Amino acid sequence: MGKRIGIFGGSFDPVHTGHVEAVASFLNSGLLDEVWVMLTPDPPHKLGKSKASYSHRHAMLELAFADLDSAFVSTYEKDLPYPSYTLQTLTHLIQDYPVHTFFLCLGGDSVSHFHEWYKFEDILGICSLIAAERPGNSTESADPRVLEKTIFVEHIPLDISSTGVRSGTIDKGYHLPENVEHYISKHKLY
Ligand code: ATP
Repeated sequence: MGKRIGIFGGSFDPVHTGHVEAVASFLNSGLLDEVWVMLTPDPPHKLGKSKASYSHRHAMLELAFADLDSAFVSTYEKDLPYPSYTLQTLTHLIQDYPVHTFFLCLGGDSVSHFHEWYKFEDILGICSLIAAERPGNSTESADPRVLEKTIFVEHIPLDISSTGVRSGTIDKGYHLPENVEHYISKHKLY
């Protein structure tokens, strides 16, 4: 049976509570049946910039979303040709799962910059966007063509970023799921 699937992509280096709560809000909106949390392999221009390996980032994602019904971690992009452009990923998904309807889920900051994405108008031609706001973001700089295709779900914005976790400027105990925090200290990441 055809489902409404939200694709939430990122490098998740590492996944944090802001990601988990955003996915919870996407699901709570009632707009989607499932969210597929899609781990992006390092794009060529970012090679070496990730601080944790693909397999560590994947393991942390599985831990973070283990208890959230209808959220599934996906490694689909790993098997697609580089670079992992969103347009390519969506085109392949639509071909591989013709019964489903796909939506692109993102944080509000990504909506504001969406017009800088590769062939963004082509992406908007094949799917709509579902967004969770991030503190400090303003949609003023967003392209009207993008906003027209975006639904913002009800969401309490959380001021957390992977950059903050990597740089040690935020409290890991408060901003990471407990099992992810344990994984990071066990494997001495970041
Ligand atoms: P970095 O700090 O390394 O740029 P990030 O915290 O923004 O990372 P990503 O893995 O780059 O996380 O983001 C994946 C997706 O999650 C993007 O759509 C981003 O907008 C969204 N996102 C990240 N943090 C939040 C947050 N606190 N609230 C809502 N959405 C978020």
